[in-house]
Amino acid sequence: MDDAAPQKPDPDDIDVTPITPTARVQSPTHGGRAKCLQRLVRLDLPVPRTVALSFRTVHRIAAGRLPDIDALLAEFNPGALLCVRPSSEDPDWGGPGAVLNVGMNAAVLERLSAQIGVDAAHRLYLRFVQGYAIHVARLDPDVFEEIDAETPVTGLRTALAAYEEEAEEPFPDSPAVQLAAVLRSMARAWEGTSARLLRQGKGAPADAGLGLVVQEMALGLGPGECGSGVLQLVNPQTGLPQITGRYLSQSQGRDALRQGAGSLYLERDPRGPSLEELAPAAFAELLRHADLMRRRLRAEMQIEFTIENGRLHILDGIVVPMTSRAAVRTAVRLAEDGIITREEAILRVEPRALSELLHRQVAPDARRDTIGRGVAASPGAATGRIVFTAADAQALAARDEPCILVRRETSPEDVRGMHAAVAVLTEKGGMTSHAAVIGRGLGLPCVVGAGRMRFHPRRRMLVSEDGRTFQEGDAITVDGTSGTVLAGAPPMVEAMLDDSFRTLMSWADAARDIDIRANADTPADAQTARNFDAGGIGLCRTEHMFFEPGRLTVMREMIFAETAADRRAALEQLLPMQRDDFVQLFRIMTGLPVCIRLFDPPLHEFLPTDRAGLRDLAEALSLPVSDVTRRVENMGEYNPMLGMRGVRLGVTVPEIYDMQARAIFEATLEASRDGAPVVPEVMIPLVSTPREVEIVKTRIDAVAAAVRVEHGRDFTYRLGVMVETPRACLLADRIAQHAHFLSFGTNDLTQMTYGLSRDDAGRFMSDYVSQHVFDEDPFHVLDTEGVGALLKIGLARGREGRPGITASICGEHGGNPESIAFCRAAGFDYVSCSPFRVPVARLAAAQLAIRHRTEHA
Ligand code: PEP
Ligand code: MG
Repeated sequence: MDDAAPQKPDPDDIDVTPITPTARVQSPTHGGRAKCLQRLVRLDLPVPRTVALSFRTVHRIAAGRLPDIDALLAEFNPGALLCVRPSSEDPDWGGPGAVLNVGMNAAVLERLSAQIGVDAAHRLYLRFVQGYAIHVARLDPDVFEEIDAETPVTGLRTALAAYEEEAEEPFPDSPAVQLAAVLRSMARAWEGTSARLLRQGKGAPADAGLGLVVQEMALGLGPGECGSGVLQLVNPQTGLPQITGRYLSQSQGRDALRQGAGSLYLERDPRGPSLEELAPAAFAELLRHADLMRRRLRAEMQIEFTIENGRLHILDGIVVPMTSRAAVRTAVRLAEDGIITREEAILRVEPRALSELLHRQVAPDARRDTIGRGVAASPGAATGRIVFTAADAQALAARDEPCILVRRETSPEDVRGMHAAVAVLTEKGGMTSHAAVIGRGLGLPCVVGAGRMRFHPRRRMLVSEDGRTFQEGDAITVDGTSGTVLAGAPPMVEAMLDDSFRTLMSWADAARDIDIRANADTPADAQTARNFDAGGIGLCRTEHMFFEPGRLTVMREMIFAETAADRRAALEQLLPMQRDDFVQLFRIMTGLPVCIRLFDPPLHEFLPTDRAGLRDLAEALSLPVSDVTRRVENMGEYNPMLGMRGVRLGVTVPEIYDMQARAIFEATLEASRDGAPVVPEVMIPLVSTPREVEIVKTRIDAVAAAVRVEHGRDFTYRLGVMVETPRACLLADRIAQHAHFLSFGTNDLTQMTYGLSRDDAGRFMSDYVSQHVFDEDPFHVLDTEGVGALLKIGLARGREGRPGITASICGEHGGNPESIAFCRAAGFDYVSCSPFRVPVARLAAAQLAIRHRTEHA
């Protein structure tokens, strides 16, 4: 091809298509509004004549190349007024505001004055001049907004004079000049940087296109019944059927929705006059059209309409913007009415939106006084008084006063305080830090890593990002859904699990092909998991059971024991407590698998760190504080997450695992007594070599044999290995030979693959994500390239070592829809996530299976 040859204009570049039933109009080329209008035209609804301009055409207009404007005008009745509206591919991405009454000039004014009255005609003209001056000529809005529309004749004169003065040229009279300027300004507005950033924030791709629709106006002003309004058949808050919207005589566009406009109700209403009473025939016709649109467009639609001298026109239809709760109910109702299939209903609900239903939220329209931002670690919102210690949280809870536990970071010692608080805020930490994991487990709103606020726990003070000081006792709100901290107590909307939610979830379960279990540590968690229909417990972090009141001290005695015998004595006290926990878990989860992980964290995490805690411990152990302090210091590690934890404790301090295995097996026998036999799953954490598994397995088998003999009863159990070190992935074939199942711990695996501390990453994660070093926080969304490669290796080698071995993911990623997609495609048997994320995971898994089936049909 000769590069130097002059480029011929490509006729496809300019695409100005009248919307007819057969025109080639598509959402990806002309935008959602244009496509929807074509559907309305196909339904034979009274839509005024409309022409669609494609994305490419609008892009060309922005670059200065206009379509043939005279030809465009020739599509409409001579002298007609026009309106221009944006048509982006997804209506949520927005676009420039509509411009009404294009084509107005002295000649049209004269004709319309005779037709609809002098005042009405002047009002249309005035509105056009105002809109054009502000949005097209970009003149000072104050000058034009102040002009009084109540006296339109003088108002118009003032507006035209002001235009001439500000723009230094007369207001354009030619409809072609007006239309060209409107198209150009809307096209350019879309390509501006701020508009682009705004829509990218809503998920639009950087090169998202804008189409425009030019429509002949049905005048809402004039003699007879004239006006405009908006109608929908559903309440956008609740999703319940209800005719909502307003109508305003002698108005245009969305005027009827303006507060204080004196608009009418649509349906007969005790609160005031209605369109049904004013224009019963038009109202009845409108309802017929609305019902047809619902059935044929297969969605709850919001309809913009105009009545012109008693005649109804349908100008536009968009899918009703609604709350998550309403979206669930609407999807289910549409399926129950036979309008969409159950599978379509499942696909219509955004999985993440479900978590809005499961927790209280800040009301969407509430005024938000944001004082800090961090990682949105556990969804939901709660308001309470600031406290800086777990003990204070418990004290306030005892007085029934809601409180927010504010800590630099949390440790096992804070768990009781977390139970007592209504929300948690920490300075440090990321998605898998202690506060985040416990918060999600408890369903407690939690923001972590809010490092731009200043935390002064000793001075009992918190300083907001903008420098405001909040003292202990001041009320703040933690919004764990958005990762923000707000001053005061904004209005909230309650969590709501209604029948539609349950119906949708049952349809989702029928559609999905990967199991979902819950990470549940306590009977309360297990009950939540059961309520959310988890397929079992995929990870019970047993150490969390030791944070219960009354157990921590015994735990500390065990840690401080000098000899194996002393240790065993302390463990004997813990044994019945653990056994009771497991009996409860087995009973709550009757008929479902329960996977119990043996003790994992470094022991010294259980030791006190502050002076008061050290003194209490010294008292409990009858030791001098100095001894206790020295011992605690000696146990410290430089890199505790890579130190004495997990299976390393199992090898070096085996009495702990012995006690836990015994508790599990005795509980198995106990729970099997009154029901079907329980088959517990026992899992070993932090393995990096097959030998570790061999050693621990030998001891657990010995404990099982002893319990069988002592009780004279048999049982079976399944032994599993947590694959959460890179080495375990690489050696998974040999490890699998000793195991019934492999559960991949993607939290630790992410930490070790990146060499990135899960407890400290929150400090710089937002910088890393905003500078695109990472696409996402890898503790939040699975890194499919790096960590994912290790998972695939681990899975393939594991299945080589033991064909058919059960494999799962139990890191936090199990609740993240993108990560579930990876796990499903890679061939894992199930994912396990915090109980409150189970519904999200069930829905996401169902959507993946449905899409997969559709693509491979
Ligand atoms: C993991 O590491 O992914 C895991 C599930 O265990 P924990 O978060 O308790 O370390
Ligand atoms: Mg782990």
